[in-house]
Amino acid sequence: ADAAMYAAKRAGGASYAFFEPHMDADVREQVDLHRDLRLALERGELELHYQPKVSGDGSTITGAEALARWRHPQRGIVSPGVFIPVAERFGLIGALGDWVVNEACRQVRQWLDEGLRVRVAVNLSVFQLRQDDLVERVLKAIEVHRIEPALLTFEITESVAMEDAESTLITFERLAAIGVQMSIDDFGTGYSSLSYLRRLQARQLKIDRAFVRDLETSADARAVVQAVVQLAHALGLNVVAEGVETVGQRDVLNALGCDELQGFLFAKPMLPASVALWAAGVNRPTALVFGDSAYVE
Ligand code: C2E
Ligand code: MG
Ligand code: MG
Ligand code: MG
Repeated sequence: ADAAMYAAKRAGGASYAFFEPHMDADVREQVDLHRDLRLALERGELELHYQPKVSGDGSTITGAEALARWRHPQRGIVSPGVFIPVAERFGLIGALGDWVVNEACRQVRQWLDEGLRVRVAVNLSVFQLRQDDLVERVLKAIEVHRIEPALLTFEITESVAMEDAESTLITFERLAAIGVQMSIDDFGTGYSSLSYLRRLQARQLKIDRAFVRDLETSADARAVVQAVVQLAHALGLNVVAEGVETVGQRDVLNALGCDELQGFLFAKPMLPASVALWAAGVNRPTALVFGDSAYVE
């Protein structure tokens, strides 16, 4: 209730009341979503869908990104673009983030038990990145589900990483020390410097979809992607392109030396059972290797 009141105050000024007729429709919507989201966490209405990442030539699955979905009883599937900001605004992101990390580790373990090694990437919010006990929480999830830390990657957007650059350096160091890997998401939209990237214990740069989208039409976008690939490789980082939708984009990215690709061209985010089938080559035109080679170091 405090959080809702806080939001009402922030948006509406002096009013402390709930659901007053004058309350902004948008605030009301947010208050509704907040109430439902709190229940959703208790009732288990959240799901993780997984979007595969593939090798540069598109031939092998290299991992999968966990993307949160909310199966709302009335609204249907709600996308994270809607409910993550609500969770952040109303103080639910800590609980939600914990759930995501644990559920991802549980799924990695289930896949292992089914004979499939999938490296899973989890998106971290700014709140999680600043949690004092983040490393302990992560370690606990890894231990409970008996998975190797190297099977877990965290994606942190470049702009979030830069918000408090010094503390990000320390958190990355601590996470790297326990063996999980870090990836800089939406790269190219923030303002990190070369010297900062050199100090940051990341393993991967993830080129933002905006550059990929314009690859075939814009020489600038192509130049940016080329520069990012070269930069990443010069720093010993692996580079992934997100949002690959066309064969043309795939071919340019492959020619520029992009290590991994992800996008609707290969696979949409899907339920875990579909990932296993997809990795085995079911419902997919090109054959992928199944089993141990699904794991690429
Ligand atoms: P992101 O991490 O950059 O994820 C990429 C988004 O692009 C996903 O949207 C994905 O479904 C979408 N996408 C993938 N391939 C394509 C493509 O080829 N074309 C197009 N048009 N879109 C593509 P989604 O799942 O709606 O997630 C949006 C954002 O929400 C994510 O951006 C991430 O920042 C955030 N998010 C998702 N799950 C979580 C979570 O568990 N925790 C946190 N903190 N954030 C999350
Ligand atoms: Mg991501
Ligand atoms: Mg991204
Ligand atoms: Mg993005």
